[in-house]
Amino acid sequence: RRERARARAAAPAVTRDGVRVAVGANVGSAADARAAADHGADLAGLVRTEFLFLRRDAAPDAEEQLAAYREIADALGGRRITVRTLDVGGDKPLRYVPAAAEDNPYLGVRGIRHSLEHPALLREQLLAIVRLAHEAPVSVMFPMVSTVDELLRARRMLDDAVTRAGGGAPAGLRVGMMMEVPAAALKTAAFAPHVDFVSIGTNDLAQYALAAERGNAALAGLSDGTDPGVLRLIDAVCRGAGGRVEVAVCGELAGDEAAVPLLAGLGVRELSVAPRSVPGVKEAVRATGLDVAADVAARALDLADAAAVRALLADAGR
Ligand code: PEP
Ligand code: MG
Repeated sequence: RRERARARAAAPAVTRDGVRVAVGANVGSAADARAAADHGADLAGLVRTEFLFLRRDAAPDAEEQLAAYREIADALGGRRITVRTLDVGGDKPLRYVPAAAEDNPYLGVRGIRHSLEHPALLREQLLAIVRLAHEAPVSVMFPMVSTVDELLRARRMLDDAVTRAGGGAPAGLRVGMMMEVPAAALKTAAFAPHVDFVSIGTNDLAQYALAAERGNAALAGLSDGTDPGVLRLIDAVCRGAGGRVEVAVCGELAGDEAAVPLLAGLGVRELSVAPRSVPGVKEAVRATGLDVAADVAARALDLADAAAVRALLADAGR
């Protein structure tokens, strides 16, 4: 029975009407990557690279990073890994990078803003990612992008890394960005010509859309990704992507089984979740019919609050 469950977890997740939804895992270490493989993940939809940079006195060089990323790729046995460039700053400072104190770190120099202010760090990281992409299927993704200009500057640095690595552009290298700033979500069509995919970070997207800090226990009920305001942003991303650019969700909402029909109904075709959540999310995909899901999703957009959306989902699931 255990063998059968493992095989089922590793099999592709296809909706009742035959549409594939990739279910990946979020990983922040090689151990996570092994857990992802054990639980049948189709890919690593988000590799958080902060683990390599925090709690130390100097940045890892490209060599050390390549070894760490390679270990993750190896654990996933040839399945694609989506490496997110460093997402620090604000509440996650680096000991070896001087940073001004900020009153509102979540609205400060973090994510791609931090990387563009400290290009030497980003240059080294992109070199490691490009080198790995010559060995394995790799996607690179930039966090906290607000403007097309930021994306283009990061892409130019990626081009430089490809030149420096030599051997031409790696055939399997795909380029994407996180959608976690509400204004960026609304501008998806402007970003679309410059990316292969976007991945919605519902943790930050909900935090910024609802003006409710994600870690603040007093606001725990407020920053819910099923709030119709957040769902409208996700809908805007799917529409802006227009079928040409793949849309993934890698925030916590993706691992919420009840929300799977909602996200699939809006047009999301990749979910990246905690490794242990992969089998359950795949089952939720298999239980979903896209025609019904699209209808439920459309109705959810017009509801008043997250509680009403959750009631609708519970009702539709019966
Ligand atoms: C998110 O914001 O939803 C996300 C996936 O990124 P992180 O949780 O690392 O900020
Ligand atoms: Mg985020």
